[in-house]
Amino acid sequence: MSPTDTPAALGDAPHLPARRLADLADRVTPAESGDTLDVFAPATDERIGSVPACDTPDVNAAVERAREAQSAWAETPVAERAAVIDRFGDLVLGRRAELLDLLQLETGKSRLTAVEELFDVPMGCSSLATAAPGVLAEERRRPVAPGITTATVTYEPRGVVGVISPWNYPLTLSMADALPALVAGNAVVLKPDEKTPYGALALAELLEVAGLPDDLFQVVTGEGPTVGPALIDRVDYVAFTGSTATGRTVAERAGRNLIDCSLELGGNNPLVVLDDADVAEAARGAVQACFANAGQLCLSAERIYVVEPAFEAFCDAFVAETERLSLGTGYDFDADLGSLIDADQLERVQSHVDGAREAGATVLTGGRGRPDVAPYCYEPTVLTDVDPDSTLACEETFGPVVAVTPVRDVDAAVAAANDSPYGLNASVWTADRERGAKIAREIDCGTVNVNDGFLATWGATDAPMGGFGDSGLGRRHGREGIERYVESRTVGVSRVGPLAFPDRIPTDWFVRGAFAATKLGRRASRAVRRLRKRLGR
Ligand code: NAD
Repeated sequence: MSPTDTPAALGDAPHLPARRLADLADRVTPAESGDTLDVFAPATDERIGSVPACDTPDVNAAVERAREAQSAWAETPVAERAAVIDRFGDLVLGRRAELLDLLQLETGKSRLTAVEELFDVPMGCSSLATAAPGVLAEERRRPVAPGITTATVTYEPRGVVGVISPWNYPLTLSMADALPALVAGNAVVLKPDEKTPYGALALAELLEVAGLPDDLFQVVTGEGPTVGPALIDRVDYVAFTGSTATGRTVAERAGRNLIDCSLELGGNNPLVVLDDADVAEAARGAVQACFANAGQLCLSAERIYVVEPAFEAFCDAFVAETERLSLGTGYDFDADLGSLIDADQLERVQSHVDGAREAGATVLTGGRGRPDVAPYCYEPTVLTDVDPDSTLACEETFGPVVAVTPVRDVDAAVAAANDSPYGLNASVWTADRERGAKIAREIDCGTVNVNDGFLATWGATDAPMGGFGDSGLGRRHGREGIERYVESRTVGVSRVGPLAFPDRIPTDWFVRGAFAATKLGRRASRAVRRLRKRLGR
């Protein structure tokens, strides 16, 4: 692309030279077929470049390269692997201006939203670098015959991990799965979403600068239905983030290949405002919970239940806060909400709102596209009187749209929150934090936030994160997020040779002795449990 062809969206990005996208695309080995895939800027709907359209042979070659690099990496001490991840965190922070431009260019999100990813990735690196040596250290476990045998568990990397990531948070959601796999001693082949390949490629470059061995981290670009299955057929584990529909096909294929997988899928997340909540604070919190990244966030609240008599006051405050939000796609911090990702997403949002309206919903604010701002911008929208059987109520909209419903009491709020096949994230607002934490335990979601939308749990990278029900399988973050990437190996050692009936003692004596020892062992276990209970552990 010559400088005269520079699309407006790219020309406006202050820290992104025109040549940069082509350089990043060059990091992917060209597809054997020579085919490429165009990439567009949602803010202007212009083509900004192209990347290789990889197919099965390209995926196979990438996995082979990664596999060769992995054996030496697996032998590298965990502390050294963690140090590479930690250095990578510094490099991401150092390169933040360019990464912010890239993110905005390929997703159309506002800069205010883009910065979240630039905090998240380095913080995730710190968390991993701190936790990994402990999580992966070999452990002594209780042996079958204390003093006679030992049992030691070691954790071995799985090999090559395939990471399939979506477009909504391209940096955060690629790295939340790729970095723990790397620190655990695996190689990674990442398939970013076809709409957002450049952020992933920029991070691949920084991983190399941080000291990751050549070929250990590969990026394959191309169409999901082509690259995804080819990857699942070759790798030893797959970490998928995306829609529930695609997640099911990923799980089926992983099952056929007898490999394990983690699935971070969709949600239709509830937010509950209790009768004692500070309505103004709940309204401010709900705006962030519903409209961050223009609602294109798996953790976004799409259903709000307000316990009477707080409904009217909450709606007034929430609508007023929502109407204060600004739309825009500039490379500055002026706009709250940016563009939706593409025409399909705009069509999905519009059709959910239209369907709800036809079924009797009232639009309290918003409810229309804003092509005057950018082709795929949509106003933050608050609806009430939404038919509980409408598509908007039952399915994930994944846009800046929320339904607010009054409920008579807390039990009804919890029942409504749990009335969904999904179970990703929830939020509870109350003046009484203990009450909130108690109600949180009744909500069937992988993460529940009290007096916050999603950051209290997502940001706690030491704690697991994932979904109940149709929202997925497995967990990222915390020790669970690392443990998914290792196989455990238990080594048992006997000091007395084979644990079999001894030759020199009559068998009936030995059996009697063995039963006595078993009784003694069970009594000792019981004593330990009693002691623990007394100590409150
Ligand atoms: P999607 O499922 O269409 O795509 C996600 C990824 O899967 C992309 O990289 C895509 O190319 C790839 N893919 C497509 N078809 C495939 C196939 N047959 N086999 C393997 N991979 C394939 O998801 P989307 O609609 O682009 O993303 C939005 C969805 O992702 C929403 O439902 C959202 O809730 C969910 N999401 C979940 C989380 C989470 O952590 N739970 C985070 C972000 C997004």
